[in-house]
Amino acid sequence: MPAAPPLQSSDDRALVLFSGGQDSATCLAWALARYPHVETVGFRYGQRHAVELDCRAPLRDRMGSARLGPDHMVDLTATLSGLGQTAMTAEIEITTTEEGLPNTFVPGRNLLFLTCAAAIAWRRGLRRIVAGMCETDYSGYPDCRDDTIKAMQLALNLGLARRFVLETPLMWRDKAATWALAHDLGGDALVEVIREHSHTCYLGDRTHRHAWGYGCGTCPACELRAAGWTRWRASQS
Ligand code: ZN
Repeated sequence: MPAAPPLQSSDDRALVLFSGGQDSATCLAWALARYPHVETVGFRYGQRHAVELDCRAPLRDRMGSARLGPDHMVDLTATLSGLGQTAMTAEIEITTTEEGLPNTFVPGRNLLFLTCAAAIAWRRGLRRIVAGMCETDYSGYPDCRDDTIKAMQLALNLGLARRFVLETPLMWRDKAATWALAHDLGGDALVEVIREHSHTCYLGDRTHRHAWGYGCGTCPACELRAAGWTRWRASQS
């Protein structure tokens, strides 16, 4: 039997890269506020903080609306771990390399994520691909840069013969502004859902509860989240 033809791409159908972290949860809320049909995709890649994936369903349940469509899971564990380990995927101490890049950087990860997302979007007729990359307040990952995303959009559109729009609503927002965006989108209720149910800590710690949510409190991801929370709360008073 021939494969079913892909759905017609529609301008207002979106796919959100949804890891279960603060940024992607905010992106999901952002997309749900804009588009009448929103699907999500998550990636398993052997991350030490795979606990973040357990946060996806509770977040979707609490943020969901009639606009929320299916969730897709892609397992890239064999692919990425087969290429080598990093502090993101193995019990290696988190440090900064000589070139100033954290050793949590997984080479090619976000490029693969976007490629897989576009392959799903192609089949599902989703034109907008929404992702939480940010180069304002980040760890220096080159695959989070705006130029990288623009280049990926061009490559995917050429390679898949579509007009996908890669949207990164957090690109020019720091972590304080990301909390503020969540508040603008859903008020205290959404901030509380993200604070309680999203996961950021690289070490997968969900036993220590802080004002900003769960985490070890000392890894680079926790430090960014905590500093952003503190700045946002200070800006409110
Ligand atoms: Zn942490």
